Amino acid sequence: MKVITNIIVGIPFLSEEKQIKNAVESIRWCFNNDVDEVDLFPMNIKPYTLLRELYEKKEYETISHWMLIEVLSKIPENYLKDIYIAWYGNRDLEYDNDLKAIFPTSCANCKYNLFKFYELYLKNKDSAYRKSLINDLISNKECNCYKEILK
Ligand SMILES: [Zn+2]
Repeated sequence: MKVITNIIVGIPFLSEEKQIKNAVESIRWCFNNDVDEVDLFPMNIKPYTLLRELYEKKEYETISHWMLIEVLSKIPENYLKDIYIAWYGNRDLEYDNDLKAIFPTSCANCKYNLFKFYELYLKNKDSAYRKSLINDLISNKECNCYKEILK
């Protein structure tokens, strides 16, 4: 038997800082309590949900991909091999009335690098390799998105 936990990044009613902190602390708790795998779920805003209503009332914003990267950068390297990333925007979710799920966002400049990162990250579970991908992505940024998130 194997225990897998799903961790959300982007909980409503929390500041970005607390959303990141909550995800990091939850991941640490999981691995300190013998969870085998953590699946990170960046918040998707789906039609016909309370979250969608909050979004339409401008009381909730889409999360940035860089928040997910910041969470990964704060996790001890040896945990990375057991952290999977789900629903980052790699597939379309369509509903009635042409409504779609809204995925995490980034600027157009960052999108290519971020999606390349996700692809490479998910292909290879080695912790050291994953850590180097994260470091490369953070140090190689071509615009200010990551800095903006840190602010
Ligand atoms: Zn950017």
